[in-house]
Order: sequence, then C-alpha cells, then structure tokens
Amino acid sequence: MTDNAHYDVLIVGAGHGGAQAAIALRQAKFAGSIAILGDEPELPYERPPLSKDYLSGDKPFERLLIRPPTFWEERQVAMLLGRRALRVDPDARTVATDDGATFGYGQLIWATGGAPRRLSCSGHDLAGVHAVRTRADVDRLVGELPGTTRVAVIGGGYIGLEAAAVLAKADKQVTVLEALPRVLARVAGEPLSRFYEAEHRAHGADVRLGVQVACIAETDGRACGVTLADGETVAADMVIVGIGIEPAVAPLLAAGAAGDGAGVDVDARCRTSLPDVFAIGDCARHANAFADGARLRLESVQNANDQATVAAKAIAGTPVDYHAVPWFWSNQYDLRLQTVGLSIGHDAVVVRGDIGMRSFSLVYLRAGRVIALDCVNATKDYVQGRALVVAGAAPDPARLADAGVPLKEMVA
Ligand code: FAD
Repeated sequence: MTDNAHYDVLIVGAGHGGAQAAIALRQAKFAGSIAILGDEPELPYERPPLSKDYLSGDKPFERLLIRPPTFWEERQVAMLLGRRALRVDPDARTVATDDGATFGYGQLIWATGGAPRRLSCSGHDLAGVHAVRTRADVDRLVGELPGTTRVAVIGGGYIGLEAAAVLAKADKQVTVLEALPRVLARVAGEPLSRFYEAEHRAHGADVRLGVQVACIAETDGRACGVTLADGETVAADMVIVGIGIEPAVAPLLAAGAAGDGAGVDVDARCRTSLPDVFAIGDCARHANAFADGARLRLESVQNANDQATVAAKAIAGTPVDYHAVPWFWSNQYDLRLQTVGLSIGHDAVVVRGDIGMRSFSLVYLRAGRVIALDCVNATKDYVQGRALVVAGAAPDPARLADAGVPLKEMVA
C-alpha cells in the first residue's frame, strides 16, 4: 500500500525530467526511497515522437518508454501513476493528490512540464479540437484521422509544423495558421523560417502567415473550421492547436515558491525558494549561461535531463551547477534539424552551405561570437559547431559561410 507513504525523494511529474531524476539518483548511489508521482497513467515515455513517428504510426508506444517496467522495479522506484498533485505543504513536507492521498517527502523534485496553452475564443473546446502533449492527446487525434480530410493547424512552431508534416505526408489537406509573419519566428532566424515555409508548401500544405484566429466554427457540436479575424472560415474536419504551454506550477506557487505563471524560479542547482524543493525541466525558470545569464525556461529533452541530473546530484551530496550546452532537434519530412546553443539575442546570421540543396546551417552570432547553430541535414556542422558555441569562437564570417571549410578548424 503506497497511499500516504513517506519518500526520501518524491518526484512529481513522470515525464522526461522526472524519470531522469530517479535514474540519476540511483546512478549516484542514492539509497533512500524514491517515488515518481504522475497524472498520466503511463510509465515515463518520450514525448518528442508524439508529433513525429508515433503520430505517423511508425513507432508503437512500447518503443517510447524511457525504461522498461522492470527497470523501475529493480531500482526500487515506486510509481504513483494516474494521480495529480494538487497541494504542497512545505512546512509539513507533504504533497496532497486529487484522490485524497497525502505523501510525505524529505526532498521534493517538481518536474511537471506544462499544459498546452488553449485558445480563449469560442469553440476552443469543441470535439475535433486537439492538442499534442500526451499519448492520450495523440491517440484521440489518431482515432479521428480516418474520417478526416482537412486539418487546420493553429501555430507554426515546432510541434505544429511536425504534426503538419506527418499529416501532409498522410495525404490530408493541411492548412497552417500562424499569427506572426513567419513560422518558427520565436525560435529561429528568418532564413530557416522561409525554408520551412517553402518546404511545407512544396508538400502541399497551405501556410497562412499573419492571420488571427477569431473562433472555431461549429457544426453539430464539432469543429468544422477556423474563422479568422477577417471573417474567412478555413474549413477543417480537425483542428490542431500548437501555441505553446503554460508551465504547471500552480501548486508550488500557492505554497509560496518564487516565480509566476511563466515558471517557477530555480537557482543553478535547480533549487526553488522553498526548502528542499527542486524544480526541473519545462516548468523551471533559470539563469542560462548560454543566453548571457538571462532567466528563461527551456522546453527540450536536453534541459529536462540535464537539470534532473543536477537536482539528483545535489540530493546525493555531489552538487554541481547547471551549465549544459542547449541542444534540440526537429524532424519534418526528410529534414533533420539539429540545434545547438541559443540564438536569442543574435545580431547576425551566417548561412553556411546551399539552402537550395536542403543541407545547410545557420550560424548565429552576437558581437562577432558564435552563440548557436541551426543545422538542417548537416550533422557534421552540428557536431563540430558545438565547440564553437562552447568556446564563444569568433571566426571570420566569410570562412564560416564556406561549407568547404570544416567548423572544427575555426574553434581557436
Ligand atoms: P514532461 O515530459 O511534460 O513531464 C511532465 C509530466 O508531469 C507530465 O506527464 C504531466 O502530465 C505531469 N504533471 C503535470 N502536472 C502534474 C501534477 N500536478 N501532478 C502529477 N503530474 C503532473 N524536445 C526536444 O528536445 N526535441 C523534440 O523534438 C521535441 N519534440 C516534442 C514534441 C512534442 C509533441 C512535445 C509535446 C514536446 C516535444 N519536445 C521536444 C519537448 C520535450 O518533450 C519537453 O521539453 C520535455 O518533455 C520536458 O520534460 P519535463 O519532465 O519537464 O516535462
């Protein structure tokens, strides 16, 4: 019986960060009791395939599991699944859940990620309107695909574009509706945005930029399209909303942790302002050395895993500061994008290679120094470019642009 039990480390959130925190604790020979409490019914699984090969049906769910079921048993990590943490009492050191249980903790790791941001307009909750955050979201969406011809994707960020790519390949008529003047506007330089815009169009998707959603149109209780601010309705049997997440931090903030709706604040060891309460992953706002110390949240597997390891080491008595190089990837059609560093605040972009050949890199510079690379079908640049980001190298832009000169020759 696990209800009302006490754990030396209680991890809330059974996603990437939560799983890695438990793994890293055991790797660090932490011998105390560990539980992972998560509101999804599944054992921790990889989220990135949800908008890629799980959505396309190319990867079964079993292959998404971060570790097989036996792993958690063997390492004595208790799984408290299908229950949601509602309240944290930092004085009593307890977490209360939606099924009436209360769990005590010695140390708490908050790894709850975020909930998909919802539209606020009428029709946002109609049948046929989908988010892509959990396995359940994608199973629901996939279940409706056989009766679906036209799909409207609201939001031209990575998740929206990846879903659009899968569905366009599956011969659905896809329309991408993006409020800003270019896709990926918040995360990438303009040449990359224009490249992906063109790729989606070449694959038959209708990409509409600078459009505002007024409401979801309805017929018989189901979504039948997206009505834009200018009155036009884009017909759709299914609407996918990919407009970002809201970090799931309300219980921690209510308990007095520093932060706000944009994330809970953590220090370099992933400690919140509450005693013995850590926060990691998508929900944790931290000062990032690769963004000139700016406080931000990163939504990436790298960040969730590396912060989990930092929190675990602090608990295991071998503390280190978080200083990991950010990296990320996105798969769309036959394009593999790999990103290293953070392009926030760049003041110049060098295109390396030939965009027309569909294998190139964008190198982002700030004050002449390399801060990030976006590499499309250019894994060598991605691998070698990492050293440039770490070193803050300041290569000659003309050499940087020459794809014939390997990046590793430009580190010094
Ligand atoms: P999550 O993995 O989201 O785990 C949080 C868990 O906590 C969830 O199960 C959530 O339901 C649960 N939870 C929330 N609140 C509570 C509560 N109160 N009580 C109990 N449980 C709770 N990153 C990349 O680097 N590359 C990619 O290609 C990429 N593709 C992505 C595609 C999709 C469709 C999505 C959704 C994300 C993608 N990401 C990608 C981002 C990456 O998956 C996240 O950054 C990562 O999962 C963050 O890990 P986390 O542990 O912070 O949160």
